[in-house]
Amino acid sequence: MPSRQIETDLVHLGRPHSEGRRFVNPAVQRGSTVLFQTLDDLIAPEDPFGSLRYGRQGTPTHRAFEDAITQLEHGYRTFTAPSGLAAITLVLTAYTSAGSHILVSDNVYSPTRDFCTGMLARFGVETEFFNPALGEDIKTRFRKNTAIVFLESPGSLTFEVTDVSAIAHMARQAGIVTAVDNTWATPLFFQPLQHGADIVIHAATKYIVGHADGMLGTVTVTEACEPALRRAAYQSGIATGPEDAYLGLRGLRTLSARLARHQETGLTLARWLQAQPLVTAVLHPALPEASGHALWKRDFTGASGLFSFCLKPMRRETVAAFAESLQLFGMGFSWGGFESLITPELKPRSRSVMAWPTDGVLVRLHAGLENAQDLVSDLEQGFAHLRQT
Ligand SMILES: *Cc1c(COP(=O)(O)O)cnc(C)c1O
Repeated sequence: MPSRQIETDLVHLGRPHSEGRRFVNPAVQRGSTVLFQTLDDLIAPEDPFGSLRYGRQGTPTHRAFEDAITQLEHGYRTFTAPSGLAAITLVLTAYTSAGSHILVSDNVYSPTRDFCTGMLARFGVETEFFNPALGEDIKTRFRKNTAIVFLESPGSLTFEVTDVSAIAHMARQAGIVTAVDNTWATPLFFQPLQHGADIVIHAATKYIVGHADGMLGTVTVTEACEPALRRAAYQSGIATGPEDAYLGLRGLRTLSARLARHQETGLTLARWLQAQPLVTAVLHPALPEASGHALWKRDFTGASGLFSFCLKPMRRETVAAFAESLQLFGMGFSWGGFESLITPELKPRSRSVMAWPTDGVLVRLHAGLENAQDLVSDLEQGFAHLRQT
């Protein structure tokens, strides 16, 4: 059979075909204790591929989801975590110990940064934030004790695109693993392991679950990284509810259809915003004007519906009047569900080495699945509040 496209895989992966007559979807299995037939089976050493010996290692529902993500990301094995942040902390704890130095790109998700400067610092790990535009020059930052390079591309809030292959290549030559938070692109639009990374993380809470009704994370690894992650998962005791793993699996089925619409509507909104005099910049890597556009075009096969724009400096009350007037954009954290969202950032978020892109207000938008013209009309009436002052 000729090789299939990813849209086809999204429909068929993670559907074990063991029974004769079967429902389309696998059952949600719950469980803690697994019963063994013989004493030999009970005391057998753990199978390196994580056979199901106890509920903390997951159930067949988790395995179906993990296998689907592994194949989509071209990895060796996937671990499920109870949130995207838990997936990130699992990776960072798997690779660090007291005295380690780690390199983290300056535009990572804020709680990732807080874990590094908080918990990891308390345990004696030194974090160096670097400008992700460094590319191959990352090698000038490597030390004997550098344990991991952690990337997120495009970066949170500011959407810079990183040359993942240049950085991962340098790290691999130095014997250092590279992990990439790939939440924005999903496995549909970017596959970091194909670009030299060793570990790929998803906040599956976002587009993979896709309906704002579950918390879920994944870590997909190469074969060489599997033992370290397995050990860390065992020692930290993370376990994810089977219902959430099931929601992740279900979300995959419609991921390509949803993302096509999120992408198209996101670009419609981004272009409308570009034409507004009060908007000083639109930070969306699929726009030809964006600084990371060439890299995005080289490495990504699409864009999701999350991006930011910058407004001229203005009063907090004006921004509040704008955001609160919107009927279709909710104000709230997270993104990747079917609904449109808006989160204004009144002050610069922490960056150690990069400049914040505006002295005004940065506004992050998530383009949901509503009609694009309805969303434009909503922004249009919202902008009237901005122009009043
Ligand atoms: C939301 C998010 C996370 C964290 O995911 P949770 O499931 O909310 O813990 C991690 N990385 C990125 C880029 C995110 O946007």
